[in-house]
Amino acid sequence: MNQDAVLAGPRIFAVADGMGGHAAGDVASSLAVATLARAAGEDQRLSAGDVLAAVEEANRRILAEAEGGREGMGTTLALVAAVASEEAGADSLALVNIGDSRIYRLPPDGGQLEQMTQDHSVVAELLAAGEITADEARTHPERNAITRVLGLHAGAEVDHWTRRAVPGERFLLCSDGLVNELGDDEIGEVLRTTGSPSAAAERLLERALDAGAVDNVSVVIVDVVGVGEDEMAPSDDTQPTSMASSDTLPRA
Ligand code: MN
Repeated sequence: MNQDAVLAGPRIFAVADGMGGHAAGDVASSLAVATLARAAGEDQRLSAGDVLAAVEEANRRILAEAEGGREGMGTTLALVAAVASEEAGADSLALVNIGDSRIYRLPPDGGQLEQMTQDHSVVAELLAAGEITADEARTHPERNAITRVLGLHAGAEVDHWTRRAVPGERFLLCSDGLVNELGDDEIGEVLRTTGSPSAAAERLLERALDAGAVDNVSVVIVDVVGVGEDEMAPSDDTQPTSMASSDTLPRA
């Protein structure tokens, strides 16, 4: 049973990693992705508020489903959406995160890979407090414990940002199955040296499998292309993010 679910456009790109037992986790991540897909499919430009409203709706739907006998199920969510923003411009990106799936960014010049999100996990909190080292985090008994998740409480506490889309930047959305196997240096090298998003996604999956991945590994890569040159003249047909690839490696 596969607990990860992915959404690869249009306009909304997301990775969700379900929890609460295999069957329930799969329901939670699938519900989140289906709710977001419906929001993305509506025939209007999205605002950051629309995206957050869809995330809230996903939260409510998972809660409602859980009340039907699947108590305790929930899902992580890492999301990048093409939005129009009053502050950041017509060609903007909304980023949303809850749980321990991640969003990374490779800048247009192929420089340093940047982790955009903070994990909402016991280990990340201990690390941030300086109570354990990065090495200890890798083997910590509570390394799988997530502190925030979609679908457990009304009013999910998500982290969210809006930023200008920059042509040539590349985003990676991934579940913990990837980062449990590959370090940031290796992930950055693959993203930097692999041309197409689909080829880069495949290479990351291959490497995680070669490293002995036991969890689901989900990867979505979003390249920002074709951003309007003039922010004062927003056009309705601009599509800031147009290339994506996703893949899931289901493991028993
Ligand atoms: Mn996982």
